[in-house]
Amino acid sequence: VTSRLPQVGTTIFTVMSALATQCGAVNLGQGFPDFDGDPRLMQAVKDALDAGHNQYPPMTGIPALREAIAAKVEALYGHRYDPATEVTVTAGATQAIITAVLALVHPGDEVIVLDPCYDSYEPSIVLAGATPVHVPLTAGTFRPDFAAITAAITPKTRAILVNTPHNPTGTVWTAAEQQQLADLLRPTEILLLSDEVYEHMVYDGAAHLSVASHPELAARSVLISSFGKTYHVTGWKVGFVAAPAPLMAEFRKVHQFNVFTVNTPMQHALAAYMADPAPYLELGAFYQRKRDLFRAGLAGTGLRLLPCEGTYFQSVDYSGLAPEIASLGEAAFCEWLTREVGVAAIPLSAFYPDGRDQQIARLCFAKRDETLQMALERLRARL
Ligand code: PMP
Ligand code: GLN
Repeated sequence: VTSRLPQVGTTIFTVMSALATQCGAVNLGQGFPDFDGDPRLMQAVKDALDAGHNQYPPMTGIPALREAIAAKVEALYGHRYDPATEVTVTAGATQAIITAVLALVHPGDEVIVLDPCYDSYEPSIVLAGATPVHVPLTAGTFRPDFAAITAAITPKTRAILVNTPHNPTGTVWTAAEQQQLADLLRPTEILLLSDEVYEHMVYDGAAHLSVASHPELAARSVLISSFGKTYHVTGWKVGFVAAPAPLMAEFRKVHQFNVFTVNTPMQHALAAYMADPAPYLELGAFYQRKRDLFRAGLAGTGLRLLPCEGTYFQSVDYSGLAPEIASLGEAAFCEWLTREVGVAAIPLSAFYPDGRDQQIARLCFAKRDETLQMALERLRARL
């Protein structure tokens, strides 16, 4: 067969998790918690199963969950999406992203992505028959480079995909940056696909700037988020999309044929659990403590820590280590770290189409304190 995605192999997250298991390494590679979600949420699933919520829910998601999502977004960001026509429950953010791209981007269009970026963006654009236009974030700081974005816009530019808080670099857009994007898009018809899956993991008193907090941007945006990150249940694969009704109408045309709908009991459980805002309001403090513990522990190593303003990822620059280690490419370094040190990491190069090496690896700190301590002991012993 002629491949639709000739450049694509197995994702780095799957590869590194398998290697971590094989080597008995502490897995700080693939981003997922090694602890369970709230027992109240688990009980809510059992209650939903017992209540017989086991057949197809509505295509767009159960009304109670769409209403809970709309209420949360309005309370936090100030924009009211109509749950009937502007909110859809998805099978995680991954399905939301590819569905948004397939629904709104036409063959021959261009879609701007800011590198490094999450690995599903490029294949989603390619499968839509469109062309990904890669604009690097500013070297060193990984902040958006608006001159470079402006230069990348052509009459074919249909959309720009933005992710804040940012996987893998942990940067969080500022209000000034969000305003610059709004100014830049104002004279165009370009859509904004806004990946906000780490919306509740922002540190040091900073605020997450959702597109829903910016009326002008909200009018041209598809907001994407995921319960997997927010409630420590990445394996549930439930997320949501919010967008103005005309965009959502197109989104739903594709959604109904690539997944139709999302499992019923989890939707009931999430709708009930969302009534309490505490779990998501407290998530930032919960992860900031882990970030601080992890960063303090790494301070005794030869790794240089990049800033971590948000997400549950800490990136490290290993160029200051012993020459035989510092000279390894990122993929080789991460393999060495997994096999020889017993800690799995993700090479930053996996988030670039050209696989460029910058001697940076990403570590996930969404782990029990004991897990982080074990990883830190191993890292401090060798680095
Ligand atoms: N976008 C980003 C930036 C992510 O990091 C992830 C998950 N790691 C996703 C999307 C996908 O989220 P989900 O698991 O809900 O599909
Ligand atoms: N988003 C997670 C990460 O960045 C992994 C998700 C996946 O395995 N596809 O690590």
